[in-house]
Amino acid sequence: MSSYGTGKENYTFVCPDCGESLAVNASMRDALIEKGCVVCGAAVTAAAFTKASSADAP
Ligand SMILES: [Zn+2]
Repeated sequence: MSSYGTGKENYTFVCPDCGESLAVNASMRDALIEKGCVVCGAAVTAAAFTKASSADAP
């Protein structure tokens, strides 16, 4: 259950370097692409994200 803001756009981020996997929203995705992986600091591209299509729809 994710009651995290307006979780409309959810992505799964998998770091190509350390393998960390995170569920993120669009703004978090932008931040990761801009700043790199939160865990290892590796550069991140849009390819590291998979769009989760309406995963939390009933
Ligand atoms: Zn990483």
